[in-house]
Amino acid sequence: MIESGERNAIDKHVSLNLNVRGMPESATLLINEISRRLQHDGREIYRLGLGQSPFPVPRVVVNALRLYAKEKDYLPVKGLRELRGAVAEFHREKDQVNARPEGVLVGPGSKELMFLLQLVFYGEILVPTPCWVSYVPQARILGKQVRLIPTSYEEQWRVTPEMLLRICEHEYDTYRPRILVLNYPGNPEGGTYSADELKSLVDIARRYELIVLSDEIYGQLHFEGAHVSVARFYPERTIISSGLSKWCGAGGWRLGTFTFPPELEWLLNAMAAVASETYTSVSAPIQYAAIRAFRGDVSIERYLWHARRILATLGNWCHNKLSAAGIRIHPPEGAFYLFLDFSLLADTMAQRDIRDSETLCQRLLEEVGVALLPGTAFERPRDELTARLAYVDFDGSKALAASETLPLDQRLPDDFIHKCCHGVVAATEKIVEWVSKG
Ligand code: PMP
Repeated sequence: MIESGERNAIDKHVSLNLNVRGMPESATLLINEISRRLQHDGREIYRLGLGQSPFPVPRVVVNALRLYAKEKDYLPVKGLRELRGAVAEFHREKDQVNARPEGVLVGPGSKELMFLLQLVFYGEILVPTPCWVSYVPQARILGKQVRLIPTSYEEQWRVTPEMLLRICEHEYDTYRPRILVLNYPGNPEGGTYSADELKSLVDIARRYELIVLSDEIYGQLHFEGAHVSVARFYPERTIISSGLSKWCGAGGWRLGTFTFPPELEWLLNAMAAVASETYTSVSAPIQYAAIRAFRGDVSIERYLWHARRILATLGNWCHNKLSAAGIRIHPPEGAFYLFLDFSLLADTMAQRDIRDSETLCQRLLEEVGVALLPGTAFERPRDELTARLAYVDFDGSKALAASETLPLDQRLPDDFIHKCCHGVVAATEKIVEWVSKG
């Protein structure tokens, strides 16, 4: 007879799907948990680990949710017709692409849609790194192959046509099915691609018939409101990924969208078939409220411009402070992240026994209470001294209210972020002090 403790230990080792055996929870959630524990012990913690929008959901969208709270029916698996229409119109207007309602798939977060895409797609996924934390673990859960494309600080952490060409032309099967994942403005580096850069990537993608999964979840948080979708140059094989989580501040509402061209509708239909056997459809009240969000109005546009102005001011302030301390970072162009590269400080770090990104983040958390995410979470090599800083630890409602008292055509005054984004300012100063200790 096996005792129950022993039974559990055996089960843990032999009765778990091999693909998930030993797999930890998502890195972002883990750092949050450690931070919470330290906070519980009375330590002051600056939570720059988890990338969640600091801003509230726009009032008109919250009101719509209230209005539709009574909606209780299961909805069509691909999403409400009106919502699919609103999403298509949103991309037509904002991105100047020929999106159609039939090409839209609504899901419980774009994360889930990416998982479904990887599940139904029979081929290789190309992921430039540093990359968002979940693409690769999702592939691993599914037992899929991912081809990482390491980029570098010098190349602004962007994939180049030469890198793509190197992969595609040296393949035995040049035309094997492949998805290239692009994410811009990007998590973790806060940079984006110019229209010309996108066009030269498209030249290669078109030559080798790559499908592009264009993760544009931060598109509306381009600081200049000048996001350009790759779908404009490669409409026939681009899937645009978006949702409410970032520009609408509604991560917890769980609503994401994929927009497909007619040429890729076979993928949409396969994903919908799997969705119908798993989550059925996204929560009904959320879908009705999302119609309001995607249709937009002047109040939402104003909200977006204020959010962009605050993020741009704060991101640039952090960038200037940290670069002056010897940390390499590119100026941010959108979203709310900076990807910090401490390699110029490698010698002083080594003297402090810090030789990898995980130790770097652990020591920062323990010694000055600043939570960042290590480069390893973004598929960078362990011994590379990189980390992501999410500059979101502030009260977004208060910051928005303060910004709204100042005309939009002006820069925010110098003391704005000290008054309204105190947590991020203090944390940045702590990092600078910690680095300078030498
Ligand atoms: N892509 C990127 C780059 C992200 O940062 C996130 C959220 N952190 C997602 C996708 C997933 O967003 P959601 O599932 O909330 O739509």
